[in-house]
Amino acid sequence: MTQSVQTKSGLSAYREVVAKYPDVSPLVILKADLQRRGVTYSQAAFGHFDPARHLVQARSIFVSVGEKPDETPTMASAGLILRDGTTVISGPRLNTEGLFVVDSIDGKLVITDGDDIIEEVDLWEKPDYVSKTTSSGKPMWQIATPRPQRLDINPYSYCHFWDDGHGCKFCNISWNYHKEHKANNKPIRLDPRDVSETVAEAIRQPGRFTNIMLTGGSIFSGDELFADELDLYIEILQAIGENFSTRRFPSQLISSSFAPHQLARLYEETGVLTYTSDIEVLNEEKFNWICPGKTAKLGYREWKRRLVEAVGIFGRGRVNTGIVGGVETATPHGFASEDDALAATLEEADDLASQGVSTVHCVWGPTPGSVFFKQKVPSLEYYVRLSQGLDQIRRNHGLNVDMDNYRLCGNHPDSDLSRI
Ligand code: SF4
Repeated sequence: MTQSVQTKSGLSAYREVVAKYPDVSPLVILKADLQRRGVTYSQAAFGHFDPARHLVQARSIFVSVGEKPDETPTMASAGLILRDGTTVISGPRLNTEGLFVVDSIDGKLVITDGDDIIEEVDLWEKPDYVSKTTSSGKPMWQIATPRPQRLDINPYSYCHFWDDGHGCKFCNISWNYHKEHKANNKPIRLDPRDVSETVAEAIRQPGRFTNIMLTGGSIFSGDELFADELDLYIEILQAIGENFSTRRFPSQLISSSFAPHQLARLYEETGVLTYTSDIEVLNEEKFNWICPGKTAKLGYREWKRRLVEAVGIFGRGRVNTGIVGGVETATPHGFASEDDALAATLEEADDLASQGVSTVHCVWGPTPGSVFFKQKVPSLEYYVRLSQGLDQIRRNHGLNVDMDNYRLCGNHPDSDLSRI
């Protein structure tokens, strides 16, 4: 078992932060720390994993698990669900603080930190559709990746910001695509027919999915910037829409930053309900360094301007942006002080919120295949303050974040706070 990180008071960093922030749910703090420090599983925990009930195979743009049918099942794909019904997506990470270990103690599946038993935890059950195939013979788990209540679809698995090496420095999409294409012949794009059939099968299961999320890499080609990317999303969204009798269906598109006339077309020609375009870093100088491709093609200010324009088309509460929380402290050009990083990020989030755009954060995990692999992430307390700050900004501006809440996404500690 790993040793937990002891602070001066003798408490683990996690216990100390929970004690210091009594107004923040310990489960929200735990989620952030699980994502920050990473998780591994003991052999005993594996006894709780049942391939008939839990997810064995999954394919997404950033990670794939169990691609080969003869591969020994691992628990890596089986997501954790906490007592409050929120989910955790995390895996092993390189860090000096040690990984949390999911273990089996007295017949219960628990999260442990050294000798400290932190929380009982469960594995969520896989949906029925993942064992089916499309009429073209494709396994449906390769077409859509499930979360407990959300269906994730990645129409395009490569990002052209990497063509000249200018992808975002925290992102491993190119590394993952090339690895999976070579090893498992993963296609670069999905066929709309496969997507439509997979969605039809998935939503047939009662009480399971409440939202469909689409995202993928950026495509520059076409008559104007991102034109072919827009056409692909329209084609896929129209195919998904065949399964609904209503004009709009519960959905979120996370895409490149489309121009207002492109967004108007997206809204008119499809049933998509909400729109997200991730600015990743809420500071122009750090954005320029961390996201050089986005800087060269569009620039920070235009990315922001287009988000605000999107509110006029989709409406308040239906447009947001994602940031990779903590990446603004990366070395050597990130903020050296967590206080400065937090102040700069929240100032920009407030500016966006005042114009109707909500900001949600995920927890930066320096992943293999990214430029920032092996970097050190900020403290747990930083994430608690960031989550509180973003949640408070939304409350100050009367902004609802249900489009990205704990049920639909579950990957944002700040939007977990918004349910309370
Ligand atoms: S835009 Fe950046 S974060 Fe998004 S897929 Fe491309 S390189 Fe990765």
